[in-house]
Formats: sequence, structure tokens, C-alpha cells
Amino acid sequence: MNQQILHEEAEQTALVEKEEAAFATDDTLGIITNIQMFSLNDGPGIRTTVFLKGCVLNCKWCHNPEGMKRYPEVFPNSKNCTGCGKCVAACPAGAITFPKEKTPYINKDLCITCESCVEVCEFDSMNLWGVFVRAGDVLDTVEKDKLFYDQSGGGLTISGGEPTSRFEFSLALLKGAKERGINTALDTCGYLPWEKLETLLNYTDLILYDLKHLDPKAHKQFTGRDNTLILENAKKLAEKGIPIRIRVPVIPGRNDTLEALAKTAAFVAELDKKGEILAVDLLPYHPYAGAKYRLFGYDYPFPSDAKFTDDDIMQFVELFTDQGIDVTVGG
Ligand code: SF4
Ligand code: SF4
Repeated sequence: MNQQILHEEAEQTALVEKEEAAFATDDTLGIITNIQMFSLNDGPGIRTTVFLKGCVLNCKWCHNPEGMKRYPEVFPNSKNCTGCGKCVAACPAGAITFPKEKTPYINKDLCITCESCVEVCEFDSMNLWGVFVRAGDVLDTVEKDKLFYDQSGGGLTISGGEPTSRFEFSLALLKGAKERGINTALDTCGYLPWEKLETLLNYTDLILYDLKHLDPKAHKQFTGRDNTLILENAKKLAEKGIPIRIRVPVIPGRNDTLEALAKTAAFVAELDKKGEILAVDLLPYHPYAGAKYRLFGYDYPFPSDAKFTDDDIMQFVELFTDQGIDVTVGG
């Protein structure tokens, strides 16, 4: 059995069991990577975006790789590293190496997230991503900017990762925000049973909904999951009449053909006939995420020079505007 399989088994047992035990005692507990105040790209007005850790999809281009795994992870940041080697000595798993001087690298297949290297590093070069938090404590932080939300039409957005993968925590956040008079937005891939999504809608003012590919086989190949449930949920959301912004990442070699995007545009136009599609946010691939992947020790399958031209983007936009859909480009 190779190290990768051993590590995946460890994920399924020790770490997940530890977390499930914690969640079982308090279903308003979740894991987040960040609370971003004064966010302007995740819905209208000034918002606070809470990024949950853990996702049900496995998109190779994800620009938040730190949010994909459902448990806390340690990532090295070589900026302040002095090369003292204390982390290597402290690591019980032999996971830390230095491929370059003063540039620590953590082998994710070996790391057991014991956090010893974080504790021993005096220079903040080992960073823990993902902390357990209670929904009420998050809401106390979010509520501090309520004045800004009220003046700008903003509020709380929950994002990820995939927020619905920690359903009870997301429900507690959305419900608690509404009880505090805060507008709410849910940024989701839509891969969850309709009954659960419908429950969240009771406390959600706006849906940010990802559409990655209309073809089920291609969707599964690029994200690890079939898209049938996602497309069905999109139709049901539209029929409910809840305002929706559709988010379409445009990824080289994955979904960037005019044919694939035209199918997405036609699907969105049908949704718009049933409900209220505010706009499509086209999110063209950019190579910046590659640096993040390298920093976090993940492989990144896209070349650093892959980029769309202005003409490419104009063609993508026209596919949607020709269907009468408003489009923005970028986050
Ligand atoms: S303990 Fe911190 S500063 Fe020392 S080598 Fe490790 S990462 Fe670098
Ligand atoms: S978290 Fe623990 S196992 Fe992982 S690299 Fe740091 S010391 Fe090693």
C-alpha cells in the first residue's frame, strides 16, 4: 500500500473521527480558514465573507486550495524562515524537507497535522489553516460591521470551500444572521440534497451559484462529481424565485470552448425565464493561484503562462449577453 493510500485512509479515520467527535458535541461548530471583512466581490454592498474549510468537489483549478480539505492543515511560508531546522526536529512524521535553503516543504502525504512545527517555529513560517469556531462567535464578529452593511446594502456571505458541506454550521450562521437583522448570501456549488438547500433558503437573501460544465461526464472528470444534482437544484432555485448570481469559472482545457460556454449560457437563459438571474460572473482563469498551490505544497496542473486574451473574454461575454444575460468579468 503506498503512502498516498495510507494518508487517505488516515484522513478517513483519525482526523475525520476526531472532528466528527467534536462536531457531535456541538453542531454549531465549524472549521473556517478566514473571515474577510470589507469584502466587495461576494454580493452587493460591503460584506463580511466567512470562508468555511472543506469541499464536496475536487476542482483542479480551485483558487482556494487551503479550503478544500475538511480538516485543519499546516502550510509553510518561507518568507520569514531562517532555516533553523527546529521544525524538522519537532516533526514526528518526517514530513518537512528543504528543497531549497530557507524554503521548508511539507509532504502532505506524510503530515498528520500535529501542529508541532507551528508551535516550535518562532518566525511564523509554519501556518495553521483552519480553526474550529462556533457560529455564535463568528456572528459576533460579523455583527460589528452591521452599520456598514445597513448603509451599503451589504451583509454576510458564507463561502469556502463549500459551506453546505458543514450543513448545521452554515444553517446556524445564516439563521443567526437573519435574527440579527443581517442580509445573507450563500456561495455554493449546489451539490447537496434539495431538502437541505431549501432549508437554507429560509435564511438566505441571495444565492451565488457555481456552474462549471453542463456536460455530466466532463463535469465529473474535472470536479470529481456528476452535475445532475447541481443542475436540478439550479432549476428548483430559479423556480423558488430567489435572486441568483451565477458564477462560471472559465478554465483552459476544461470548459473554455465556445460550444461548452454556449450551452452554459443557454441553460442560464432558461433559468432566467423561470426565476431571477441577476447576472453571470465570468471568472476567467489566471495563473496567480499557481503560486498559492506551490506555497501550500500542492501540484498545480496549469502552466504559469496560460491566459485568456481580451478578445477571448469578449467572445465568452457575448455568448451570455446574446441570451439577454448581464455579465461581469472577474470576482
Ligand atoms: S522552525 Fe520556522 S524558521 Fe526554523 S526552519 Fe522551520 S520554518 Fe524555518
Ligand atoms: S503538522 Fe506535525 S506532522 Fe505535519 S509537518 Fe508539522 S510537525 Fe510534521
